[in-house]
Amino acid sequence: MKRVLLLTFAILLLGTNGMAQEPDSRLSQEGQQIAVDAMLERANLELQSNRFPEAQRTLQAAKEIASDSLIYLNTEVVESNFFIYTGQLEQAQKNIDRLKKQIPITSASYVELLLIQADIYIRNKEYLQADEILKTINIALDKSKDAVNALKARYLLANLYLSTANYTQALSIYQEIIPQLREQSLFYFESKSTFNLAETYFENGEFENANRTVDQALASADNYGFTGITLSCYYLKSTIAKGLGDFEQAMIFLEKYQQLREDQFTDTSSNAISIGSIEKVSELEQQILAKNKVISDQEIKLKGRGFQNILFFVLLTLLSLLTMSLFKNNKLRAKSNQTLEGKNSALIDERDRAQDAAKIKADFLSTITHELRTPMYAVTGLTHLLLETEPRHDQREHLETLQSSGEYLLSLIDNILDFNKLEANKVELEQIPFDLKKRVEDITTSLSNQSKDQGNSLSLEFDNSIPSRIKGDPVKMSQILINLVGNAIKFTKNGNVWIRVDQVKQVEDRCLIHFEVEDNGKGISEEKQQDIFNNFTQEGSSTTREYGGTGLGLAIVKNLVSLMGSQINLDSKIGRGSIFSFDLWFELPDTNKFYEDKNLKIFDTAPEEEYPEYKKPVRTAKPESKKAPIAPINTEKQEPEPTSIVDDENQQKDRANAENLEPSDNKNKDVIGLKKATATELISKKILIVEDNKINQMITRKILEGKNFDCDIANNGIEALGKIKDNTYDLILMDIHMPGMDGKQCTREVRKFDRELPIIALTAVTLDESEKEFYEIGFDDIIPKPFKMDEFFDKIQKAFTNYQIY
Ligand code: ADP
Repeated sequence: MKRVLLLTFAILLLGTNGMAQEPDSRLSQEGQQIAVDAMLERANLELQSNRFPEAQRTLQAAKEIASDSLIYLNTEVVESNFFIYTGQLEQAQKNIDRLKKQIPITSASYVELLLIQADIYIRNKEYLQADEILKTINIALDKSKDAVNALKARYLLANLYLSTANYTQALSIYQEIIPQLREQSLFYFESKSTFNLAETYFENGEFENANRTVDQALASADNYGFTGITLSCYYLKSTIAKGLGDFEQAMIFLEKYQQLREDQFTDTSSNAISIGSIEKVSELEQQILAKNKVISDQEIKLKGRGFQNILFFVLLTLLSLLTMSLFKNNKLRAKSNQTLEGKNSALIDERDRAQDAAKIKADFLSTITHELRTPMYAVTGLTHLLLETEPRHDQREHLETLQSSGEYLLSLIDNILDFNKLEANKVELEQIPFDLKKRVEDITTSLSNQSKDQGNSLSLEFDNSIPSRIKGDPVKMSQILINLVGNAIKFTKNGNVWIRVDQVKQVEDRCLIHFEVEDNGKGISEEKQQDIFNNFTQEGSSTTREYGGTGLGLAIVKNLVSLMGSQINLDSKIGRGSIFSFDLWFELPDTNKFYEDKNLKIFDTAPEEEYPEYKKPVRTAKPESKKAPIAPINTEKQEPEPTSIVDDENQQKDRANAENLEPSDNKNKDVIGLKKATATELISKKILIVEDNKINQMITRKILEGKNFDCDIANNGIEALGKIKDNTYDLILMDIHMPGMDGKQCTREVRKFDRELPIIALTAVTLDESEKEFYEIGFDDIIPKPFKMDEFFDKIQKAFTNYQIY
């Protein structure tokens, strides 16, 4: 069954018109053997029928199936036959020579090889070699008992005898093998032997036998389709007829031969052409294929190499570029780094120099302003004292000019100091709970005289929905308002100045307050409206001549407002007046309850909340004090001010309670020039002046004694501490900068044993000092030195007023 299948497979392969098939490696060796054998058989048949192209294709197909080397060699053995049949003896010999080296002597194929070799020798008329080899074959066949090959060998021997004119031996052998060949189904050899027998008869002169035998051969050849033998038969028949004198018959057979040969020639030649062409084509194809393969291999290699080369080149180029760019970059970077480093260090130097310069300038201004304050203290203080001595009319005029000039210089110094602080970014905002209403009222009060001098009415419109206590920086806020209101008063004559404070909104724990200072004074031209906020800028030179000033006030205002996160707005028209406004956010303190607790003592609260305006608890008079109830310093009844300011109600009530007096309708806080308090009213108030500068000691003392205060002097902190411990004072005026124990340290020490004694810092606050620190230490108030007399007495009076006297 398996064999049938394999044969079917082989036939199927051949059925594809002998087209070359891909070698089927799936076939086993046995399968290959069977398939190739079948194909070789077919090829042989095709050869015997003179169908050479088909035989060649079959052989080619067999070769392609035969992957096993021995089977493949078998195909080449048959191919050698092909060369013999087609007359290519040389090619056949080459094949045989090669195969002899490859096919083992013991194999059956080797005998076939020798048979082919014998055939070649006979055809090449190399009879001795043929004889030799046939003998060898016989020896080999004797051992193998290969009947088929033995018959073939006998056939070749007969051929040798025929070729060598040994007709009797030839006849004998042919006669002997023809029936055997038929028996073995070696039909070709049977036909061929029959023809050869006829030929032998003819050569031997036995024409009758020859004719009879040739007919047998012709019949056999026709029967099997052995065209070559048929041709030979007709030719022999013609020759025999000619030999018999039957020329007509001879002609007929010759014509038949020629006809058949012509057909055959056509076929053969076409076949030959085909074979040649096929061979050549196949050879060319193979060469082309081989070349193509070489070319394609080379192409692949070249492509591979080309691709590799391109890749390598590209990589090399990229690497070079990268290296170059890195190198260049590095060089550039190094260069630019160097340049930058150079510039950087130059900039750092510049910055350091600028910082140094700024620091030097700031320190210089700070020192200068501080140093100016001390002599200015003498100027303003002594002027005040002289004015108190009831000078002549012309002297008073000069002294008053001296006093106003001194005050102007003082405010200039203050401005420069503030501006210096702002410029040096030394200004820090404080977050302290305070009473905005009280603050604004105080400012209004303190400026009301100035307003009156200009013939102006000063009005405050305060929105009462504003929380009583807000958290912020009251000093900076006051500075802004003082500057704006001061300007409004200064640049308005016989007109009105309004201060408006309104709550815009309240969001959770914050409120937005709108501040507005309006006047109906001279107004500011549109071109100058922006410039006036710059440093040292005034509207024009005439302004300086007419109004004085430095042009620093609005620059300070602008800086402070922006420091508080807002901006200043201006709406002004020449001749109509100006409105300066700004909005500020203030935090609302968590609770202000403790401020209302009358029993709360100073320092019982957190430092942030110890702002003097609120921290001052109601003090109880010391039991041993023999002091008389204190009277307000300015007891002189005043005409009501043209302003709508209402003095602090609580304060007035306190005073009224203290003195059993009706609340004073006096709203003028300026004590200078007012009628002195009576000696009995003030004499019992003992003030300790702590001051290291002898001139200042003298001036302060004279000023206070001018108001009938009882004064004592301490030259430094240690001396002051001793005196405070040994004596009873109603107020301490403490200088800060002193040798040995300074004013701050002294106050700290005092606070350890006396929390109620009022202590006012009398100092020129420098850049590095914060007001907050003073309050934290335990000072009740600060009077900047040199002071304006009204401010000085106002603060002293406040200190006493805060006493609750029973
Ligand atoms: P100073 O008042 O010392 O001159 P300011 O910076 O406070 O400096 O003001 C700058 C200038 O702006 C003033 O010189 C004045 O020309 C103008 N100015 C300021 N406020 C007003 C105002 N309310 N009405 C008219 N002009 C004003």
